[in-house]
Amino acid sequence: MPSEKPAKVTIIGAGPAGYAAAIYAARAGLQPLLLAGPQPGGQLTITTDVENYPGFTNVLGPDLMASMKDQAVSVGTTIIEDTVTHAALTTHPFALTTDLGRVIITETLIIATGAQAKWLNIPGEDTLKGYGVSACATCDGFFFKNKAVAVIGGGNTAAEEAIYLTNHASHVYLVHRRQRLRAENILQDRVLANPKITPIWNTVATAIEGRSKPFPAVTELLLETEGKAHAMPIDGVFVAIGHSPATSLFTDQLAADQHGYLTTQPGSTHTSIPGVFAAGDVADAVYRQAVTAAGTGCMAALDAERFLAH
Ligand code: NDP
Repeated sequence: MPSEKPAKVTIIGAGPAGYAAAIYAARAGLQPLLLAGPQPGGQLTITTDVENYPGFTNVLGPDLMASMKDQAVSVGTTIIEDTVTHAALTTHPFALTTDLGRVIITETLIIATGAQAKWLNIPGEDTLKGYGVSACATCDGFFFKNKAVAVIGGGNTAAEEAIYLTNHASHVYLVHRRQRLRAENILQDRVLANPKITPIWNTVATAIEGRSKPFPAVTELLLETEGKAHAMPIDGVFVAIGHSPATSLFTDQLAADQHGYLTTQPGSTHTSIPGVFAAGDVADAVYRQAVTAAGTGCMAALDAERFLAH
């Protein structure tokens, strides 16, 4: 059954962008609904220590998200543990249908569905995530001080992660399946000129090996170069083969870039449909940090408030 009166603000997504939007919208008296979706807490729930969120010297990702959730609820957000399966954005107010059969009518919508790192799906990758396998050098690079790490991929992300990791690691191996990077020339030049980075061309990773004692850790990366198998002792593996924004609900309704990231008007969170706003990684292929996501979540709530006022 449709809700009787449209909600003023509905937020899809329960990561830093969604919770920041909820906190600001609730404190503005807009009684926001937040649909938590299939992975409440977002990408931070799959990391361990977070050391770069201002105000927290060291906090576990899941704990940080639990605090954000508590704060959003305490100021008046209604959190709905349900997943949106359809969004009708071409008529106003907007209508959302959920997995559990809810129909939510809303005057404004904040999309904070995030993005997910693509993974290789090779043996060992999943079990060692958070124990040496990561998809975020800025988040986890610090834990590999004076250790040898491998970055997998050949795009801008892989190049940037490899360069960033040289600040911490003793050596960085950049494993790429072709003989040439796809990254921008300036990044390629920096990678190739860096004595702490060794590219390993025409090579695919086939498995990640680890130990469980005295604590779980990555020990070895199994590789295949032009059909020949070999192993590399390694302490960390950073998978950097791209991200996928969670935008399948909005395809054909909202403007997006060639990679599927929602496009917003510069300096704002306005999407191509008035009253629909995008915040966090779903609209950000560049920064992708919890703090930038929270920042744009705040912007989205303020943009929604102004839209409702007019
Ligand atoms: P890209 O899609 O550009 O690159 C992905 C890389 O991973 C490619 O080199 C690809 O290989 C490789 N790859 C993909 N799948 C596999 C697999 N299964 N096994 C092994 N290797 C694989 O993704 P990025 O995340 O690097 O960049 C995405 C977008 O974001 C781009 O537009 C990029 O420019 C942008 N970006 C911009 C930044 C900036 O401006 N500072 C920073 C980071 C990203 P192959 O080359 O063979 O296809």
